[in-house]
Amino acid sequence: MADKIDIAIVGGGPAGLTAAIYGARGRARTVVFETGLTGGQITSASWVENYPGFPDGITGYDLAELMLKQAQIAGAEFRTLSPVEAIRPDGCDFVLTVDGEEVEACTVILATGAIPRKLGIPGEAEFTGRGVSWCATCDGPLYRDKVVAVVGGGDSATQEALYLAKLASEVHLIHRRDAFRATPCLAEQCFFDPKIIMHLSFAIEEILGEEGKLTGVRLRSKGDGREEILPVDGVFEFVGIDAQSALVAELCELDALGFVRVDHNGLSSHTGLYAAGDVSDTALKQVVTACSRGATCVHHALNYLETRVC
Ligand code: NAP
Repeated sequence: MADKIDIAIVGGGPAGLTAAIYGARGRARTVVFETGLTGGQITSASWVENYPGFPDGITGYDLAELMLKQAQIAGAEFRTLSPVEAIRPDGCDFVLTVDGEEVEACTVILATGAIPRKLGIPGEAEFTGRGVSWCATCDGPLYRDKVVAVVGGGDSATQEALYLAKLASEVHLIHRRDAFRATPCLAEQCFFDPKIIMHLSFAIEEILGEEGKLTGVRLRSKGDGREEILPVDGVFEFVGIDAQSALVAELCELDALGFVRVDHNGLSSHTGLYAAGDVSDTALKQVVTACSRGATCVHHALNYLETRVC
């Protein structure tokens, strides 16, 4: 087995990258494992305008790049394209199976984030990648001067509807209630954007198409039950997120929705195992809170490494 890692970070989004900066600066051997490339879900956020220090906003991709650079300069090690397949306890340490290889670590910070939820309606699977998308930054440019639907009423739906309105000719924002979960300033901007057409208190029941081409969506009013067919060229779904916590499901406590329960130090119910960012059960899921929780976990982990008796 290779040399033991002090802090193994699983996931290279804002929580993992901040943990990497703090771990490396704490002179602990800190290794970040990432399934794909580093950056996490934030890389698909078209625009981040609530991360302090960037008064004009910044793309999620650029922000992640800066964090990665900072972690590399600090001295963190990166193993990209290295999926962690399993984590098991070994005394007071952990053994991670990475791409078939076993790696030993004193502490683990789970920063695997969450993945966008699917609607699970007819037509969704058929048109995935051919009209149905979960990433406006990636697929938005394909809909220049076309008509798109955005589903959801949270921060993601409103923020990405605003981005898509810069490209598409019309954006139909479909939300199942008449009140938004999104931060008020994002919802307000949507109401004022002339290209965004609201469909409030409407459920989306089916994604329609002909001969392999997406042609529209079937909606149902939550008020009077009437059906509407809305012709669109693309559908962007932003209906929430599911925690990527399967790796530790047998190791520590999860909440009812599958998020890792952590204390104020980011420590899970298993000693030495921490969780930060969207995978943890912290209420406010923002880039700034993910970063803060990544730093908090490392602060505690470094103390634990100095004082633990194994
Ligand atoms: P979210 O806040 O959970 O919102 C999901 C939205 O989808 C809700 O409006 C929900 O409706 C709706 N929805 C859920 N299931 C649905 C279904 N089956 N059919 C139709 N609509 C459905 O999710 P999110 O917007 O992806 O955000 C996830 C987290 O990331 C949040 O904590 C958010 O604050 C954060 N985030 C922050 C930023 C930012 O700060 N700039 C950007 C993006 C995301 P109801 O309202 O009726 O439940």
